[in-house]
Amino acid sequence: MRSFEFLQAHSVEEALALLALPSTKALAGGTTLVDLMKLGVEAPARLVDIQALPLTEIAVTGETLRIGALASNSAVAADPSVRRLCPALCDALLSGASGQIRNAATMGGNLLQRTRCPFFRSHDWPCNKREPGSGCPAHEGADAHHAVLGTSDACLAVHPSDLAVALLALDAEIGIRAGHAARQVSLAAFYRLPGETPHLETIIGAGELITHIDVPITPLAATSRYLKLRGRASYEFASASVATALHCENGRVVELAVALGGLGTVPWRDRQAETLLIGGPLSEAVINRFCDALLAPARASAANAYKLALARGAIRRMLESASC
Ligand SMILES: Cc1cc2nc3c(=O)[nH]c(=O)nc-3n(C[C@H](O)[C@H](O)[C@H](O)COP(=O)(O)OP(=O)(O)OC[C@H]3O[C@@H](n4cnc5c(N)ncnc54)[C@H](O)[C@@H]3O)c2cc1C
Repeated sequence: MRSFEFLQAHSVEEALALLALPSTKALAGGTTLVDLMKLGVEAPARLVDIQALPLTEIAVTGETLRIGALASNSAVAADPSVRRLCPALCDALLSGASGQIRNAATMGGNLLQRTRCPFFRSHDWPCNKREPGSGCPAHEGADAHHAVLGTSDACLAVHPSDLAVALLALDAEIGIRAGHAARQVSLAAFYRLPGETPHLETIIGAGELITHIDVPITPLAATSRYLKLRGRASYEFASASVATALHCENGRVVELAVALGGLGTVPWRDRQAETLLIGGPLSEAVINRFCDALLAPARASAANAYKLALARGAIRRMLESASC
């Protein structure tokens, strides 16, 4: 058994000071980190329990919905303001895990959960993400559940968070602190493509703490929805998912956002492709052109090409059923 030091933080300042120690990780709900420690995938020398920090508030301030990093996935999903202002967020959270896990899971932890790629989660296999340079069995044909967008020769692991896909469509920003410095980063810039360094998944550095998530309050966000397709009706990660938000006037699209999950190594959105849908009615032909552009960078194998068909179907269903 591997031993580690367990510390409890009682304030954000104390947490930041403790997180600055080497080989130290924050422990929020523990629903991912504890699993990965038991599997030997994560082995921090120190855990800082951050559950007592005052970062659970869900508040509307001016044009922004601010959600504390330690708000539980259940609390956010059940919040009436979140439901009214950005319904996709509630739907994405409710589509993930189980009720019990969502009660413990936090917003910050959800964003920083690691991939469910079986090669990453088992020392029986090589994995470039877990052990850089060791190899990737998914590249040798075992890739039925792997990513088709944003992949590299080093890694095909799918990004797992439903929440992150909804936040990408909602143009959310992540509040981060380290020491006395605070920064705000868009969700679009938060995750890193694997490239040659798949072990570096986000722009979060050692010692940094996510403090909150800001979602802009807009008429577009209030139209947002989330659809998740998966191997069984509950308790399963996405094979493909889509978050949409759509504002139409006189039957023509004025503004929209479409983000994809389950297909990419990171949550996926292409604002250039979205312009194809602006200005016109949502005909089948224009939706097909949009899907062609969005999925053009995909690299699929015979085993995971089904994800492209799933994504097309999910996008068509969401756009055709929207009131436009
Ligand atoms: C069986 C099962 C099914 C699941 N199904 C889904 C699903 O379908 N969809 C989905 O999206 N998710 C799913 N999940 C993942 C679940 O949503 C995450 O486990 C959970 O959100 C993680 O939150 P946590 O607070 O428990 O994080 P923890 O496990 O405590 O932490 C996770 C990581 O985040 C870091 N961290 C946590 N909070 C902060 C912070 N504020 N600042 C800096 N670092 C921080 C930790 O150091 C750790 O590295 C599932 C999980 C399980 C176990």
